[in-house]
Amino acid sequence: MHCHHMIPALLLSTAPAAHAWGVLGHSTVAYVAQHYVTPSTANFVQAILGTAPDYMANVSSWPDTYRRTPEGEWSTQLHWIDANDAPPESCEVEYTRDCRPRAAKSTEAQLLDAIRFLIHFAGDIHQPLHTEALEEGGNGINITWDGKTANLHAIWDTQIPVKAAAGKNASEWAEEMVGLIENGKYNASGWLDATSLDDIKGTAMSWANDANDYVCTDVLPDGREAIEAEGVDLAGAYFEKHGEVTKELIARAGYRLGSFLNLIVDGPANGHWSDN
Ligand SMILES: [Zn+2]
Repeated sequence: MHCHHMIPALLLSTAPAAHAWGVLGHSTVAYVAQHYVTPSTANFVQAILGTAPDYMANVSSWPDTYRRTPEGEWSTQLHWIDANDAPPESCEVEYTRDCRPRAAKSTEAQLLDAIRFLIHFAGDIHQPLHTEALEEGGNGINITWDGKTANLHAIWDTQIPVKAAAGKNASEWAEEMVGLIENGKYNASGWLDATSLDDIKGTAMSWANDANDYVCTDVLPDGREAIEAEGVDLAGAYFEKHGEVTKELIARAGYRLGSFLNLIVDGPANGHWSDN
């Protein structure tokens, strides 16, 4: 219900009650972004976050901690969008229907908070169930994962990415994704088409709609009944068919985050950005 923006960060995302992408997802997004930032962007961001090798990854889950503190409670609803669409027949995020603009708070517009939010929300907005209203983004859909009862939202946050990473840590998984982008296995050429500092809302909505498409094609391709049915374990055929998309979505989130930071720091006319 809440699509919110704050300068300079794009603050818009999704994630009912449970979590966001789990820690693996958020860290991996950050490592992919770290690969794609220009030296000037890296300097800019490191001046705010410090120069540790994992300078972006180590703050990537901070907003999930912050939202659980009294002073951070206001930010809770920034983690998701409740798209009132109708999966699997129709998937779409509409700004006027699904988002409620909120005034930016100058006290929160500190650069440190803004950058940590941007790193985190670039991840959240690429988790399909953070852009879906149905049962609070799947939190209310009970399924079976690996023989145990779980909810659909949680497995898309955590279990599916962890299984798709096949034992790799965030840094190793990010490296694999960068390889897939660089060798053209992932076609990144269109990933920045709708990304612009002149239209933050449009940028956010295009990223959200991108992720939301997967609710129809991969999260609930045959409707909720098919995955709630007795005897269906999503760690089996469902994962084999749909689990890999988390990898591409996380790669896309990281690539977009790195490029968006370059856009903020270097401007649209510079190097890496204009090559894409
Ligand atoms: Zn989140």
